[in-house]
Amino acid sequence: MKELSVDLDLVRKYDVPGPRYTSYPPATRFSEEYDVNRLNELIQANKQSQRDLSLYCHIPFCESLCWFCGCTTVITSQHREGTDYLDYLDREMKLFCEEGIGNRKIVQMHLGGGTPTFLKPDEIKRLGSIIHGHFGETTGCEAGAEVDPRRLTKEHVTALWEAGFNRASMGVQDNNAKVQKAVNRIQPMDITLASVEWLRETGFESINIDLIYGLPFQTESSFEKTLDEIIGLSPDRLAVFSYAHVPWIKPAQKILERDNLPTPETKLKLLKLIIEKLTSEGYVYIGMDHFARPDDELAVAQKQKTLQRNFQGYSTFGGADIHAFGMSSVSQIPDAYWQNIKDLKDYYRSLDDGKTPVSKACLLTDQEKKHRTVITRLMCDLSLDYDDLSSNLDINFREEFATSLAGLEDMEKDGLLRRNESGLTVTDAGRLFIRNIAMRFDPEIESSSTTRYSKTI
Ligand code: SF4
Repeated sequence: MKELSVDLDLVRKYDVPGPRYTSYPPATRFSEEYDVNRLNELIQANKQSQRDLSLYCHIPFCESLCWFCGCTTVITSQHREGTDYLDYLDREMKLFCEEGIGNRKIVQMHLGGGTPTFLKPDEIKRLGSIIHGHFGETTGCEAGAEVDPRRLTKEHVTALWEAGFNRASMGVQDNNAKVQKAVNRIQPMDITLASVEWLRETGFESINIDLIYGLPFQTESSFEKTLDEIIGLSPDRLAVFSYAHVPWIKPAQKILERDNLPTPETKLKLLKLIIEKLTSEGYVYIGMDHFARPDDELAVAQKQKTLQRNFQGYSTFGGADIHAFGMSSVSQIPDAYWQNIKDLKDYYRSLDDGKTPVSKACLLTDQEKKHRTVITRLMCDLSLDYDDLSSNLDINFREEFATSLAGLEDMEKDGLLRRNESGLTVTDAGRLFIRNIAMRFDPEIESSSTTRYSKTI
C-alpha cells in the first residue's frame, strides 16, 4: 500500500460518536430481556452443526490498574485467584460440552483479558489441558494470547507454546517514561524487547503490539519516537487505539485529568502521524485502528475477502462460530450473540448453581442478519459488490438498500468512496472513515442514542 496522507478537515467533519461494529447489532443493543429458551435451542442446534469453531477464554486479572484502561478487569495481587478461576472455566466448559459439541473443527483460539499471563506458567499449561480435554486437539489452529511484557517470563512463553498458542499480542501503549508514569504503567523498552525476542525464539508466528494515542504528555515528537522504536521491533501487526476518556464509566481515568491530556487538535495530529508513518514504513492500513505487514494473515485475508469482525477487532476466519468462556466473554453464532456475567462473584455463583453464566443476549432478526452481512463486508473488504450481496442474501440489494446507497453522495464527493453500477469501493483516504460509512447502512443509528459510543476517528 502506498503511503497515505490524512486530510484533517475531513477528520474534523466526520469525527462523531458511532459503534465500532465488532458485532452487529453492536453490544450496546444486547439485552438482559431475551428469550432464554430460544437462545438455548439455537445454541444446541449450533453445537451439532459442522461449522468451524473459534474458542475464546477471558482471564480478567491484572496486578495493577493502568489508569487509561477501559477493559473488564479484576485487580489483584493474589495469584490464588488464578487457580480458582481455572476451576470455574473448567466447569463452564464442562457444562457447555455436556450434551456434546458434535464434530467441530477448531480453527482459532484466543486468550484475552485482563492479563492472561497473570496465570503462572503451570496454570497456563493446565488451561491448555482443560481446553483440549473438552474440545479436543487444536494443533495447527491459529491461536493467539495476550501477554503483558511487564510480568512475562521465558517460562510463560514456553507454557503458552506448549498449550498450543502460536501468536501473541502485547500492550506497550507508549514508550515515553513520563507518559508511562502518568498512566501507571511502567514498561521500559528493554522488557518489551526481551518479550519479543522470547516469542520469536520460541516460534510464535505473528506478534501484535498495541499502542494508544491521546494519553497525557504525548506530543507528536514524543509519539514519533515511540513509533520508531516499535517499528524497529518489526511487529507483524499494530493496533493503535485512540484513548477514550470516559471517567463516568471508568472512574480511575479521572486521575489522568491532573496531567496534560492532549487537546483534540493534538490528537488529530497524532492520528495523522500514525497513519502516515506506518503506511510509509510498509504497513497496510486494514481499517479502524489496525495495521499489518502485507504478508501477515490479516492483510492477506483482507485481500482474499475472508476477513471478519469480532470482539477482538478483525479476525482471519470467516464463517467460524465463537464460543467464549470466562467472565464477561461474548459468544457469537449466526443467529445470536450472548455475553457472560461481568461480575466475578456472580459468574462463580451462577456456575455453583449449575447454570450457564449468561447475562445478556441478542437474537438476530432476518433483517438484522442482512444488515450484519453488509456492514461486515464493508468493514472487512472495504467494498460492496451489489450482485454478490443480492445473491448471498437472496434479495435485490440495490432496491432493499436504496436509501442507504442514496445517502452516500457527500461521502463520494469528499473522496471517501467510489461508486459504479456494480458496487462501491472505499478509497485509501476513506479507510479512516469506515465506521462512518458503515453507519449509513445501520437502520438503528438514527433512532439510537449515539452518546453511548466512542468517536469514530
Ligand atoms: S494490563 Fe491491560 S487489562 Fe490490565 S489494567 Fe492494564 S490495560 Fe487494563
